[in-house]
Amino acid sequence: METDAEIEASHAQAQARESVLAPEQEIFVTVSDALEYLFCPRFIYFMHCLDIAQREERRFKVQKGRELHDSREKVNRDYVRKKLNCVRKEISVYLTSHKYHFKGEVDEILFLDDGTAAPLDYKYAEFKDTVYKTHKFQAALYGLLIMEHFGVDVKRGFVCYTRSNNHVEEIDFQQKDYEKAKEIVREILMIIQRGYYPEGTKQKVRCVDCTYRNICV
Ligand code: SF4
Repeated sequence: METDAEIEASHAQAQARESVLAPEQEIFVTVSDALEYLFCPRFIYFMHCLDIAQREERRFKVQKGRELHDSREKVNRDYVRKKLNCVRKEISVYLTSHKYHFKGEVDEILFLDDGTAAPLDYKYAEFKDTVYKTHKFQAALYGLLIMEHFGVDVKRGFVCYTRSNNHVEEIDFQQKDYEKAKEIVREILMIIQRGYYPEGTKQKVRCVDCTYRNICV
């Protein structure tokens, strides 16, 4: 016999199928979507196609809140920028790409003395000898937005780890990073627009306390 959760899931799946039949609107993927997708692609399906919110949605909200608080209150941004040969900057820039159907707010855009630009993102986090995949692709997505909007090359990005004495880590973008970033956006759009049910994360430890574990098959 079906459980309540299964019934709810079937009902929602039917709604998702119906919504696929509706004319497609212009949909924009956000940075939060990309972060959720990188955690587990199925989150996108459950959140956007079945409209079931995550219990631990606060994960990103709390993180974002901390980042904002920390970056505004404690970080000497001028000092950080000075180290990066920045000749001009723009702060909190909201950019939309109609080409890639992606939008996001870049903490800072640095225009560098070699004529290129770079996103600078502040993380309320410690630097642990590596730039996490999520931080790297977030930066690459910002890079795509900056290139399209300002018509300049973006060869690198910076992440400032405010809990490691404002350690700034440079990411050198390769073409394959941009291709992967575009692929992430394409796949998220495919899930949202076509109701495509993606593979779940390979890191099964993430399933243990997942909101969707009862309906995820
Ligand atoms: S149970 Fe695992 S595979 Fe399913 S949505 Fe959650 S994290 Fe992803």
